[in-house]
Amino acid sequence: MAETKKYTGGCHCGRFTFEVDTDLGTAISCNCSICTKRGLLLTFATPEQFALKKGQQDELKKYQFNKKVIDHLFCPDCGVEAFGTGKTPDGKTMFAINVRCLEGVDLAALQPRPVDGRSF
Ligand SMILES: [Zn+2]
Repeated sequence: MAETKKYTGGCHCGRFTFEVDTDLGTAISCNCSICTKRGLLLTFATPEQFALKKGQQDELKKYQFNKKVIDHLFCPDCGVEAFGTGKTPDGKTMFAINVRCLEGVDLAALQPRPVDGRSF
């Protein structure tokens, strides 16, 4: 059952922090080229479920590749990608949150669903 909880998270150096309501039961581990290299575990949130508490989104460095539909955002100081943002096929903004950047999450207890992003 979908059950969202509130988490706080941020980059490594603390320049950017955020709060997010998300369901870690929907976390994914993706095999696309960037998720592989970054070791990303992702969970998703709508703009209503996500709030940047510290830092400005336009101060983050942006990286795009492939179809350039996802903004991979990372802290210019510590280099950590705590979240990214993109649009769903129907044009809605979504945030992809790096589960490894959330506080108080038992990563070993998660069972992220494998997603074949490499083939997208
Ligand atoms: Zn940082």
